[in-house]
Amino acid sequence: METFKSMLSEKSIEGDRLPFLIDGKAIRPTHDTYFDSYDPTTGQPWHKIAEANAEDVNHAVESSLRAFQSSQWANLTQTQRGELLYKLGDLIGTHADRLALIETRDNGKLLKETSAQVSYLRDYYRYFAGISDKIQGETIPLNKSAMLNYTRYEPLGVVAIIVPWNSPLNTLSVSVAPSLAVGNTVVIKPSEHTSATALEFAKLALEAGFPEGVVNVITGPGETTGHELTRHPSVAKIAFTGGTQTGRKVAKNAAENLVSCNLELGGKSPQVIYADADFDRALNGVVAGVFAASGQTCVAGSRAFVERPIYDDFVQALVERANMINIGIPTDDKTQMGPLALKAQLDKVTNIVSKSVHEGAQIVAGGERLKSPGWFFPPTVAVDVNNSMNICKEEIFGPVVCVMPFDNEKDLIKMANDTTFGLAAGIWTRDIDKAMRFTDAADAGTVWVNTYRTAAMMSPMGGFKDSGYGKHNGFAAIDEFARLKNVVVDYSGKTQDPFVIKLK
Ligand code: NAP
Repeated sequence: METFKSMLSEKSIEGDRLPFLIDGKAIRPTHDTYFDSYDPTTGQPWHKIAEANAEDVNHAVESSLRAFQSSQWANLTQTQRGELLYKLGDLIGTHADRLALIETRDNGKLLKETSAQVSYLRDYYRYFAGISDKIQGETIPLNKSAMLNYTRYEPLGVVAIIVPWNSPLNTLSVSVAPSLAVGNTVVIKPSEHTSATALEFAKLALEAGFPEGVVNVITGPGETTGHELTRHPSVAKIAFTGGTQTGRKVAKNAAENLVSCNLELGGKSPQVIYADADFDRALNGVVAGVFAASGQTCVAGSRAFVERPIYDDFVQALVERANMINIGIPTDDKTQMGPLALKAQLDKVTNIVSKSVHEGAQIVAGGERLKSPGWFFPPTVAVDVNNSMNICKEEIFGPVVCVMPFDNEKDLIKMANDTTFGLAAGIWTRDIDKAMRFTDAADAGTVWVNTYRTAAMMSPMGGFKDSGYGKHNGFAAIDEFARLKNVVVDYSGKTQDPFVIKLK
């Protein structure tokens, strides 16, 4: 058994076989099985990932359970846990360049985007460090004398955290930070396509001083490793980020063990542009909403509803902007869109777009993969579409926007909400009354007015409908990862009638 440090040193991980991190140690898979992780910019493998079977998953969960019950972790004060989280934030800041570079290499996201995300994460851990010793219950007055009635928050136990490939560090952190602030321990399973940064992150958690086993990482395919993790009887809570179909499977496993889960799922979010909007800002918002990160964001504003008087001008301007976007190597500062993260994702986007043409859609920008090495798909604009077409129904998770006209507010609200998803929505208008009516009516967990894709660690975020349930960020996340206990103390000294419950 080698130490984790010796296996994941500061050198490049190119060509390495990456182990699991369990109990603070680098652990090889039971059957010594590894698989390739690909660089989407070249389409070539660049390192190997260990594949966890049920035995390996059990090892990780049981280690996490031991850590949860250990005095080194369980006896820490809330302030001490906060101090560890603060140190972790600092270390993320110190290693930001390396983390961002690995993530970009792994999923093809622009380096400037992954760098911004990692800097945000430094502050994210500091934010939850600050929350840690402000997690407190309340004293609730009863209609009885000589009784003390109060609530307290307690940790749940082992939290299983499963994340996709589009923003691995970011998505794991929205569950890890509140989990640790409350006093849980975590087992993280990143996507098989982008596992490297989760392992690097766990190394930093050890360096920050979190006891061994508090942050464990196992890797492997979702259908096997992820499935085993979500059905493990010692897991007390599941935090899942991914697609709706997988979310349903995870929820079934959670239900079987009677544990709660958070489901951060997909979206098909509407962006509304009224004729009175600031045209350029709205245009920029639509571009940012669906072409940033090559459309691989859960909140992608992939259905744009444009008020009829400006519809033609808006489409023309959007097509011009789409055609001007620099597609290229994600580490190049001038690049605005990199590749898609997976070959399967490239195939999925290509199929949905080409099939939409048979359904009557017109593709007025982009539409076909680039004929260059790597998995590049251009910014794509579809018109002559409606909500009954697959291109408007299915989450594409690529740089594809469907643009539709609307004539009045009633129709607009109906069309905007005509989706099985309910993650986010945006509206661009100078009329505050229209904006507020839309925010009331929108069937979405987050609504942005004259802005889009604006995230904040203090703002609760999570979807409605097929976009899942549960919230991350802010104090709302604490409620997700803690259990609330009510304590009632009778200090009256009186003996009560044993056959009558004390009500009121
Ligand atoms: P996915 O196929 O559902 O996979 C997500 C994660 O679940 C991966 O780690 C995957 O492992 C694992 N997994 C797959 N099958 C599993 C199973 N049966 N049991 C347990 N785990 C399983 O989703 P994806 O295609 O990777 O990610 C894109 C989706 O994530 C989109 O729908 C996007 O909207 C959503 N997303 C949502 C948010 C949000 O906050 N709402 C944020 C980011 C992304 P492998 O990859 O190793 O198979």
